[in-house]
Amino acid sequence: MQANEITEELLALLSITSPTGRATPAADYCAERLASFGLPVKRTARGAVVATLQGTQGGPARALTAHVDTLGAMVAEIMSDGRLRLTPIGGLPAQACEGAYATVLTQDGEITGTILPGCASTHVFGAHYAEQKREWPEMRLRLDAKVDGPASAEQLGVAVGDFVAVDPRPVRTETGFVKSRYLDDKASAAALLCAARAAANGPRPRRTTYLHISVYEEVGSGAPAGIPGDAEEIVAIDMAAVGAGQASREDLVTICAKDSGGPYDHNTTQRLAQLARGANIPFVFDTYPYYASDATAAARTGRDVRIGLFGPGVDASHTHERTHEDALLGTAQLALAYIQEP
Ligand SMILES: [Zn+2]
Repeated sequence: MQANEITEELLALLSITSPTGRATPAADYCAERLASFGLPVKRTARGAVVATLQGTQGGPARALTAHVDTLGAMVAEIMSDGRLRLTPIGGLPAQACEGAYATVLTQDGEITGTILPGCASTHVFGAHYAEQKREWPEMRLRLDAKVDGPASAEQLGVAVGDFVAVDPRPVRTETGFVKSRYLDDKASAAALLCAARAAANGPRPRRTTYLHISVYEEVGSGAPAGIPGDAEEIVAIDMAAVGAGQASREDLVTICAKDSGGPYDHNTTQRLAQLARGANIPFVFDTYPYYASDATAAARTGRDVRIGLFGPGVDASHTHERTHEDALLGTAQLALAYIQEP
């Protein structure tokens, strides 16, 4: 596998709008990719994707899961001036959306706009511009259309309950970084797709491994949906939290030992580390202070599964994210090593 192909896959995924609840196009893309590698692919009622790498031996199966749903928002109210008040989907901070371009997904099509504080002009509002709160009740989406009130917005097809996708603005730098929103978790999904292709072209794995693409992770209910019941281990591939006090780095894979949901299975975590060492994949262990994964979500449903978590380091997560192609490659390599675990 090459870092370049994972980055290309990531950019393709980032070009598909997929806020939680409207993630079907991104899941469709993944389903088509997995099927094109020759893998049997199923869709769940909720829209998740499950591809199967059939093992050569019987015994309990396991699953790798990554999510393609992203943070987003929804129209909560059409204000008297025609601007839109939004409610966030998942943990999208309003402060990180000031000035962001966004798209309203209406029943009939798409209308672009900009997310602004309620009082956005310094010439009109003076010092109040700086002082006003940057929180969702005070933020507004300004549509790129001639609207002056609810009637004209509704005429364009805008309605309360419409999904809003914030533009990711992906950029790949010459220094090997990718900066974009939604590297959580499209970076991992891209790595999983590349590992799936390598696995499909390689020797059959010993144990049956399900590759699961989740579409409700950002609201905490993704992975339980659709991972077949014979999986006794669920490993989430999701971004690692980079920042002060964290061991995680943008250019490395992290194996997570504990997050807000508690410790991951010790046996699973240690086996992942062994696999990384065996394949010469540089990695760190870390714990995350404000974080829960789809693997934990699965365990919380009462399923009797061992859970694990690894993924690429992502700086400034849920705001202005960035990772490095070294971490993308390491994540794909560790996913492949897990699939091919002897
Ligand atoms: Zn995530």
